[in-house]
Amino acid sequence: MSKITMTTPLVEMDGDEMTRILWKMIKDELLLPFIDLKTEYYDLGLEERNRTNDQVTVDSANATKKYGVAVKCATITPNAARMTEYNLKEMWKSPNGTIRAMLDGTVFRAPIVVKGIEPNVKTWEKPITIARHAYGDVYKASEMKVPGPGKAELVFTAEDGTIVRELIHNFTGAGVLQGQHNLDDSIESFAHSCFKYALDTKQDLWFATKDTISKKYDHTFKDIFQDVFEKNYKDAFEKAGIEYFYTLIDDAVARVMKSKGGFIWACKNYDGDVMSDMISSAFGSLAMMTSVLVSPHGYYEYEAAHGTVQRHYYKHLKGEETSTNSVATIFAWTGALRKRGELDKNQALCEFADKLEAACLKTIESGKMTKDLALITTIENPVVLNSENFIKAIRTELEASLS
Ligand code: NAP
Ligand code: MG
Repeated sequence: MSKITMTTPLVEMDGDEMTRILWKMIKDELLLPFIDLKTEYYDLGLEERNRTNDQVTVDSANATKKYGVAVKCATITPNAARMTEYNLKEMWKSPNGTIRAMLDGTVFRAPIVVKGIEPNVKTWEKPITIARHAYGDVYKASEMKVPGPGKAELVFTAEDGTIVRELIHNFTGAGVLQGQHNLDDSIESFAHSCFKYALDTKQDLWFATKDTISKKYDHTFKDIFQDVFEKNYKDAFEKAGIEYFYTLIDDAVARVMKSKGGFIWACKNYDGDVMSDMISSAFGSLAMMTSVLVSPHGYYEYEAAHGTVQRHYYKHLKGEETSTNSVATIFAWTGALRKRGELDKNQALCEFADKLEAACLKTIESGKMTKDLALITTIENPVVLNSENFIKAIRTELEASLS
């Protein structure tokens, strides 16, 4: 069988610990035998980030701007313990944060839905994708404790010296204060990423805030979304047969619980933080969540939503057997390969991505799975496979579907 050829390379960002081990197995077993894989390789493993003073992360983000599509392995975000463990020169920033800031992107997280791993909410038949705005609000707020009686005001001093004041509260006793902000540019980028991704995946887009209470702050989010939609995406949405729908956040939460899924839910920063954990745990497992960073300029970076699975890695280092779920990392590759295929009009590459995803689902539905899934499956007597044999079982299904 001849291998599928590629015209443009993918940006490949290698990572750390157990996911780095899985990364190599996935390439060796599921990709290289079938594709003449073209990648531009960046090693974002912590050692190389430390050696290059994190330049490799910046280079990988620039390469993503050049080629448009990247696939990333999970990486360690250093903390105090990692400083000693890896003898680091500095506590390097989160690679995801660096890449997101450079690409100005929004992260979309979606569960991988498979028979046998049933969501806790019975009506959910299709995945719910969460898009979280990743700038401002409570995450960039200034706070203070108010010691006692006094007047609190919002004061804005324009560049020309003009001052605008707004009374917050006349305190008669002690209390607390918080100042939040956001930027029109950032909200606009967020809106563009959401509309683009909805068109890309042919799913409805929901957006919700509390604009009835927050008549200036949240209302600005609502207005910018409406404006961006009407000026740029309304016709394309009609053609694609999908809908943009705005509602209040409490109404959205109630509707989500009664929905069948199959849409994108755009959230402000805090709502997205909270709701994405709710959605992912209700769908079953963090090891079955994919994540893609979509920039308003049309760059895509695919990854798994989970981390480097450190505990399994230490077992692996001791020579013990692991049963680590590689599905989300495989789906990061298929997402990137399919997007590359779409951009290059490489039908064979898109079909391969579809078949590899189907092979993963078929393997699990046939009762072969890793330990994390065996603990929550509704399939009786599942066969628990180790990390390597699970990938080999997927290969068997893949080969059957390719022949
Ligand atoms: P984690 O790697 O997501 O793992 C937490 C636990 O979840 C694991 O110990 C394991 O539970 C379970 N788990 C996660 N993924 C799994 C998989 N694929 N298969 C089976 N079980 C899985 O989070 P962490 O241990 O808190 O973080 C480890 C490192 O990852 C940290 O250094 C952090 O900085 C980094 N991180 C990176 C990213 C990223 O690059 N996107 C995201 C988050 C965290 P059991 O041990 O009970 O089996
Ligand atoms: Mg959170």
